[in-house]
Amino acid sequence: MILAVLDDSPAALDMLAFTQSLGRQVEVATFAAFDTGDPDDLAKRGVRTLHRITHDELADRAPAASGDALAQLIGHLRPDGVLAVSSDGITEAMAHVAAVTGLPLATNCVEVSTGDPWLLTRVRGGGMLLEESELHVGAADSAASMALLTIAQGVTGDIGAGPVESCEVREFVPDLSETTQARVVERASRGSGMTLATAPVIVSGGRGVGSAEGYRVLEELAERLGGVVGCSRVATNNGWRPHSDQVGLTGTKVTPDLYLACGISGATQHWVGCMDSKVIMAINTDPEAPLVRRATYAVIGDVHEVLPAIIEELNARSKT
Ligand SMILES: Cc1cc2nc3c(=O)[nH]c(=O)nc-3n(C[C@H](O)[C@H](O)[C@H](O)COP(=O)(O)OP(=O)(O)OC[C@H]3O[C@@H](n4cnc5c(N)ncnc54)[C@H](O)[C@@H]3O)c2cc1C
Repeated sequence: MILAVLDDSPAALDMLAFTQSLGRQVEVATFAAFDTGDPDDLAKRGVRTLHRITHDELADRAPAASGDALAQLIGHLRPDGVLAVSSDGITEAMAHVAAVTGLPLATNCVEVSTGDPWLLTRVRGGGMLLEESELHVGAADSAASMALLTIAQGVTGDIGAGPVESCEVREFVPDLSETTQARVVERASRGSGMTLATAPVIVSGGRGVGSAEGYRVLEELAERLGGVVGCSRVATNNGWRPHSDQVGLTGTKVTPDLYLACGISGATQHWVGCMDSKVIMAINTDPEAPLVRRATYAVIGDVHEVLPAIIEELNARSKT
C-alpha cells in the first residue's frame, strides 16, 4: 500500500493522481487541522480510505509536530511508500518524518517506478538538472523499510481507477506530548498589493547594499517603478530583509518584466530564482560577477551612487 499525503495546495490532487497511476493500492492521509480531504470527493477519485490526523493543537504547532504525527501514523500503517505533495509545509513535515524514523527521503520526484529497486527521477538545482536514482525498498539489510518521497508540483498522472461508493474516514490521534515545543505564535498576512511573484518590477539587493538601512533607496526606487523589493539570501541571513523578500532556490522564483540586481553576485542558488525575468539589469562593482555577465544590461559601479543617480534622473524627467 502507498500512503498519499495531501494538503489543501492546488498541487495535492495532481499528486494523488500521480500516486494512483503507479498501480498500487493507495490510501490517503490528511491533517484535520487544515481542513483538507473531502471524503466524497476522494471517493469520486477512487480512494477507499482516508486517514485523518486529528489533534487539537496541530494547527498551532510548527511542521515538526505534523512530521511527528505523520511518523506515528506511518509506524501504525507500515505502507511500502509515502508520497507527499511538495508544498512548503508538507516538505518540511516529511523532512521531520525522515529525521524521526531514520528513513531516506527523496524530494521533488517527477518520475517514480515502484519495482525492485524503486527508480526515481527528481529535479535538483532549482530545475537545472534531473537526477536519476535507485531506492532499495524491502526487507534486505541494505534496503530502506519504506520509501519517503515528495512529488514535484505540477506532476500528475492518469488515475485509472473509477469512482468508488464511499471513502471510509479513519481518525488518527497522535501523541504530541513529546514533540518539539515550537509553536506558531502569530500569523501575519501579507499586506495587500503586489508580491514578488506578481510584481512587474523587482529591485533586489544583496550583500553589496551593506545594511538594512541601505535598502531605503531600493524601496524608493521600487515605489517609483511600480514594483517591490527583493533580496539575496545574504540579506535575509543578516536580518536586513524578511525571508518573504528572498529570491532564489530557497526563496521565491520570480518572472518580472525587469529584475534590477543591486550588489548581488549571482550565485547559482540566486540565479535559478531570477533567470526567467524578461530583462535583468545588474549593478555591481565587479565586472566579472556572474550576474553581471548573464544580465541583459549591467552598470559597473557602487549601488550607493548608481541608485540615487537613477532616482535623480527619474525625478528630473518627471518634471519635464
Ligand atoms: C542550499 C542553499 C540554498 C541557497 N538559496 C539561496 C536563495 O534562495 N537565494 C539566494 O540569494 N542565495 C541562496 N543561497 C546562497 C548563495 O549561494 C549565495 O551565497 C548568495 O546568493 C550570495 O548573496 P549575494 O550575492 O548578496 O552576496 P555575495 O555573493 O557576497 O555578492 C555580493 C556582490 O555585491 C557586489 N558588491 C559589493 N559591494 C558593492 C557595492 N557597494 N555596489 C555594488 N556591488 C557591490 C560584489 O561585487 C558581489 O558581486 C543558497 C545557498 C545554499 C547552500
